[in-house]
Amino acid sequence: MPTTDAIYAAVEAREEEMGAFLREFLAIETENPPGRNYREGATFLAEAMRPRGYDVEIVEVPTDRVAEHYPERTDHERVNVLGRKGDNPSGRDEPGERDDLGGGGEPRESDEPGEGDDSGPHVHFTGHFDVVPAGEDWTRDPYTPTVEEGRVYGRGSSDMKSGITASLFAVDALEAAGVDIEGSITQSTTVDEETGGFTGLGYLVEEGYVSPDNTDYCVYTECFDASRICLGHRGVLKFHVSTHGEKAHGCMAHDGANAVAAMTDFLTRIETYEADLHERTTEQPVTPDASRRADISPTMVDAGYSENVVPDRCRATFYRVLVPGETVASARREIRELMADTEQATGQTVEYEEIMFAEPTTVPADCTIAETYTDRILDFYDETEPVVSPGSDDQRFVVNDAGIEECIVYGPGLLQQAHVVDEYVPIDQLVTATKVMAASTADLMGVVE
Ligand SMILES: [Zn+2]
Repeated sequence: MPTTDAIYAAVEAREEEMGAFLREFLAIETENPPGRNYREGATFLAEAMRPRGYDVEIVEVPTDRVAEHYPERTDHERVNVLGRKGDNPSGRDEPGERDDLGGGGEPRESDEPGEGDDSGPHVHFTGHFDVVPAGEDWTRDPYTPTVEEGRVYGRGSSDMKSGITASLFAVDALEAAGVDIEGSITQSTTVDEETGGFTGLGYLVEEGYVSPDNTDYCVYTECFDASRICLGHRGVLKFHVSTHGEKAHGCMAHDGANAVAAMTDFLTRIETYEADLHERTTEQPVTPDASRRADISPTMVDAGYSENVVPDRCRATFYRVLVPGETVASARREIRELMADTEQATGQTVEYEEIMFAEPTTVPADCTIAETYTDRILDFYDETEPVVSPGSDDQRFVVNDAGIEECIVYGPGLLQQAHVVDEYVPIDQLVTATKVMAASTADLMGVVE
């Protein structure tokens, strides 16, 4: 039986190769919004997986499904990649043999030998390859990755092309160390996480590519630091509220109904609501500590035509954060109540338009995968504490929608490097996270000494 030392040595032997792979990956500009070069990114990843022995399926999202979530961005194709190796009781058709795209969706029995025997475990690594726009003010070219003082610089280096790199090389190292993979390994690389993930991992879950039938353990390789696991995240509800009054000339304001005045009424209620939300705290280890509560912020306000016109319409945009225990449905209800109060107080119509939501998600710190990763992290760090993310990410699709509780977030890269200018990942983070992923996978499969 291989030892973990052999696995760690196999990762170290790949440090150069990993760095080179990451730089090549980072050079593909996959900015979202709007969702550029997804085909190129997907091709790069598929070509990385095939020689590694994965059965690769390119999962494209039909345009009408894209339109449901991103009506203004249907001109960019949504291309996800799924690679699988080992014996997996896929709830889906076997990769490469799907001929019923968009129809029926009837699960078909695998015709592989060993069909029906649920020998596992089936481990799924998933990560997103879209990146937020680089923006200006970089002192380097965000898409010409460089290595300086043990760091790889480039947009997506922390968030989260290093995570995808780590999971691919973790499995390489396992095999190089002589680990005979039990069950199966799946690597999915998805798009659109930065805009909600509905056409990325959300779509894979919806279509049955990730389900309790084909997945025992899932690691979402987002950048939460190689030194700790993340158990979940707060939820979010983003929406617009508009007030509708009546236009009038500024010199005869009495003829109109000022939509700004009604919005002022609503914003005052939101202020009280915000204070109430701050009392809704959570025991979950949300980091930073100040984020251990529910919250709401008005983030944009828009009204008016001219300095001499009483506006008939005012629209404000809100960012509502939910703590575990809250639901999006209850948050919507509370907003509706405040809207009704404003309607009653002002006589104006108040309208709600939703932008996006994500339910809060957490898994127990003592689930098998959390404990396995925690033990391996302690091979490299003196101590570790699990965290819960203040934002939201794609983990929720696996936990809430697919119903897989054995799902954590773990990956290299630094949360504080996500979305910033001159983003980097420390190479030692990449190496350590890869080791932890490799050894933990071997532990989950019960194949190491
Ligand atoms: Zn990310």
